Amino acid sequence: MPFRERYTGLINRYRDRLPVHDDTRIISLGEGNTPLIRLNNIPGIIGKDVDIYVKYEGLNPTGSFKDRGMTMAVTKAVEEGSRAIICASTGNTSAAAAAYAARAGITAFVLIPEGKIAMGKLAQAMMHGSVVIQIKGNFDDGMRLVKEVAEEAPVTIVNSINPYRLQGQKTAAFEIVEELGRAPDYHCLPVGNAGNITAHWIGYCEYSSASGDHVTEACAFCHGQCRYAGGAIVGNRPKMVGYQAAGSAPFMRGAMVDNPDTVATAIRIGHPQSWDMAWKVKDESGGWFDECSDAEILATQKLLAENEGVFCEPASATSLAGALNDINTGKIPEGSSIVCTLTGHGLKDPDTAIKQSTAPMLTVEATLDSVKTAILDNMS
Ligand SMILES: *Cc1c(COP(=O)(O)O)cnc(C)c1O
Repeated sequence: MPFRERYTGLINRYRDRLPVHDDTRIISLGEGNTPLIRLNNIPGIIGKDVDIYVKYEGLNPTGSFKDRGMTMAVTKAVEEGSRAIICASTGNTSAAAAAYAARAGITAFVLIPEGKIAMGKLAQAMMHGSVVIQIKGNFDDGMRLVKEVAEEAPVTIVNSINPYRLQGQKTAAFEIVEELGRAPDYHCLPVGNAGNITAHWIGYCEYSSASGDHVTEACAFCHGQCRYAGGAIVGNRPKMVGYQAAGSAPFMRGAMVDNPDTVATAIRIGHPQSWDMAWKVKDESGGWFDECSDAEILATQKLLAENEGVFCEPASATSLAGALNDINTGKIPEGSSIVCTLTGHGLKDPDTAIKQSTAPMLTVEATLDSVKTAILDNMS
């Protein structure tokens, strides 16, 4: 068998584009390099001639894109001598923080909203040995507390306000351009804190600039972690489209939302931390924000699972739900190439999936006859 180089994670793969040194100890679980899956059936179902790809970030080591940012954030925390990290989380950040801290041999403290995180994510935080602090409040309360406590205790914040997070997450855009040979026309993402939409834009800008440096104004917010050279853009860049859950849509309201609510718990965020950057991303890219109802989000999660074999969590389905709405109205025209980020794996939140499942679940006697009857009655 021919020798193929072992994949050892996104920092090693994109070392020259990330803020690491030759002797930096890399904390990695082999994150990144996720599949870009072309939808074969859904364009036909909606009767539109569009090229839709889903970037299946649920296949990262802890089941969400948060691993891309966490490998960078924990690598730098360790390099800077930190012994403990802390985050507020709707679930996936805590799962990633817990796992990468375990890998690094440091402590993770995670603040989660009591009763509002999906079961799989809680299991991960607990299993990886992090200190789980449930707070009687929502994500936004947790985020405020994390910022306050980090002023008084020796802990490194690994939420997406940590600029290394966005540096790691920008690599998803690199992978997409390398695989398609160009950027897509539209890139659609679910938006919570809006770190990921910002990170993707940084990645697309950096990759399409002649100098190899990135040229987005969002860079001005990166606290010096990015190289802001202002070189000419030579490659194409997508319009960035951010979709929110209707009950948790500050970008649609144009103001912070105090009591966000949605079945898509990963984006149940009313006070986005990357507010200014995300508006810049929208303006620079010529994209827009829109919202989807919980019913649309769940229906799309199911559509994707049943027709393409791809299982994502509810928040993730928001990108495709929004894209399908905009394809239907023609805002995203036929003939377009579209990438939708599926931010997390469906197995994260089995409760919501089972609750909305309508697939037949039969209980029969353990006899050949009854099993055969069940099969013949349900052939399609
Ligand atoms: C974190 C997360 C989001 C939101 O990403 P932001 O960078 O906060 O906008 C969306 N979906 C899932 C599954 C997530 O874990």
